[in-house]
Amino acid sequence: MGNMPSNSPNTRPDGLPYAVAKSEEEWRQELSDPEYYVLRQSGTEAPFVGEYTDTKTEGVYSCKACSTELFRSTEKFDSHCGWPSFFEPLAQDRVIYLEDRAMGRVRTEVRCAGCGSHLGHVFEGEGYMQYMTNGEVVEGKRFCINSIALRLEPTSQNQQ
Ligand SMILES: [Zn+2]
Repeated sequence: MGNMPSNSPNTRPDGLPYAVAKSEEEWRQELSDPEYYVLRQSGTEAPFVGEYTDTKTEGVYSCKACSTELFRSTEKFDSHCGWPSFFEPLAQDRVIYLEDRAMGRVRTEVRCAGCGSHLGHVFEGEGYMQYMTNGEVVEGKRFCINSIALRLEPTSQNQQ
């Protein structure tokens, strides 16, 4: 049991059901095949080809599966790793962290807290410096997220 990949996207680590709970059959109908592969089967899209890899547009990134708002463009940065990268989620309660041993090493998987869908992984200690609004500079984490798991809602031009 201990070494099984965390492959059950239907129950939160705390045992509670997700707010948006659908059967895999429903997800399969709602999502395209590549979306289903990443979001529900913890797949990874190819690097450098995702829709949002280099996007600079201001706005909020939501979960493609359930529309929970997950990341802001203000925390997005150029990691040159081939996937959209964020220093942190929009709020800590928007994502869930799971230990992932699937690749023969321990990584931290990031899932949507709204529906349990796989988003990507988070890495620490890579030396990416994050400039905080108070002028402080800290070493940031890298939330490495699949473009296909996200939908960007650009900030409205009229909104200040
Ligand atoms: Zn979701």
